[in-house]
Amino acid sequence: MEPCLPIEPAAPRPRRSRQARASWGSRVVTIGGDAPVRVQSMTNTDTQDAIATAIQVKELAVAGSELVRITVNTPEAAAQVPHIREQLDRMGIDVPLIGDFHYNGHRLLTDYPDCAQALSKYRINPGNVGKGDKHDRQFGQMIEAAMRWGKPVRIGVNWGSLDQELLAQLMDENSRRDEPWDARSVMYEALVTSAIDSARRAEEMGMDGNQVILSCKVSGVQDLISVYRELARRCDYALHLGLTEAGMGTKGTVASSVALGILLQEGIGDTIRVSLTPQPGESRTQEVVIASEILQALGLRSFVPSVTACPGCGRTTSTTFQELAKQIDDYLRAQMPAWREKYPGVEKMRVAVMGCIVNGPGESKHADIGISLPGTGEAPAAPVFIDGQKALTLRGDNIVNEFQQLVENYVEQRFGQTHAAAAA
Ligand code: SF4
Repeated sequence: MEPCLPIEPAAPRPRRSRQARASWGSRVVTIGGDAPVRVQSMTNTDTQDAIATAIQVKELAVAGSELVRITVNTPEAAAQVPHIREQLDRMGIDVPLIGDFHYNGHRLLTDYPDCAQALSKYRINPGNVGKGDKHDRQFGQMIEAAMRWGKPVRIGVNWGSLDQELLAQLMDENSRRDEPWDARSVMYEALVTSAIDSARRAEEMGMDGNQVILSCKVSGVQDLISVYRELARRCDYALHLGLTEAGMGTKGTVASSVALGILLQEGIGDTIRVSLTPQPGESRTQEVVIASEILQALGLRSFVPSVTACPGCGRTTSTTFQELAKQIDDYLRAQMPAWREKYPGVEKMRVAVMGCIVNGPGESKHADIGISLPGTGEAPAAPVFIDGQKALTLRGDNIVNEFQQLVENYVEQRFGQTHAAAAA
């Protein structure tokens, strides 16, 4: 069949949302509107331990988390929040802190004004603010605290703690339908209704709707897609997106990537968190790395230079290209905290490390700098391509270090000049 139209490049579809601002000192992190999709994370330290919490917040911020949430669950934890903030300020870490409140947030935000002030955003779970007539009153107290201190809020609904009274009411209404919905659809409706009704209640109290962010987290991929599509259809609040209780390792990573990827491609999601259970001994920062990788893979943001590496196959029995790909990837990540300032734009650089002649030269030419290592039976030579042109050939036992040096020279030459020109 003859083509009748050019094939359009795929791209995320923008969704117009309101824009919230979480700030600390001179640092302002905008969420929604035309702001880039933000990466956020959450600590797993005991907030009462101010030093341990500040250290972990710093690790998450250095890894690229633009907002960090901490549990504020007890008076003792609330009392430590200003000290955590002080420690961070002393370390030069101005990442905004989000307080995660359940059950007693109304009291903690009232009784600990220094805590309310030191936080840059509050997370309120409408399913955990009290039952019966206490629900609206305690929710209202938290909204009043947010308005008093000028903080945005995330109204974060979770299907593990869904407002049971609302769910029962919707179940009742459903039973009176001529054709009742299935239980899952009623649950979806309860999640979306709980979030949007709470946001409207906050606005009726005088809260600026721009300072309201919504989330409706569930742990199933298809459930998350259904709920967020509907949430995005019904409102223009900024949306915090994440698969709750995603799980460990590859399962959690894949489930989060699939769910968030589909929704982000549809323009749904203004800030994301990957709720990964760390493997024993694994750093908490892994959730930040994955969230950043999701955004970078979709072309929504760039955080670190990308390394394209082939999987290897029977054409190469050498593991050199695997070692080289890993070394270059580790090296680029390690340099980024310093390079971000020194070499603006370096995060968009593409490096290729390929295993043989089949796709090696082609893929390397598509990259900014790439190397095609010799496969089995090929001459022991590794052509290096720079800006699409073959620049030189490496040989011998020191290819790994020589290529790393070439990458370093390339960065200095290409992005150092940009920096010098911008500074001039
Ligand atoms: S580039 Fe070569 S070694 Fe790598 S996967 Fe393709 S054919 Fe195999």
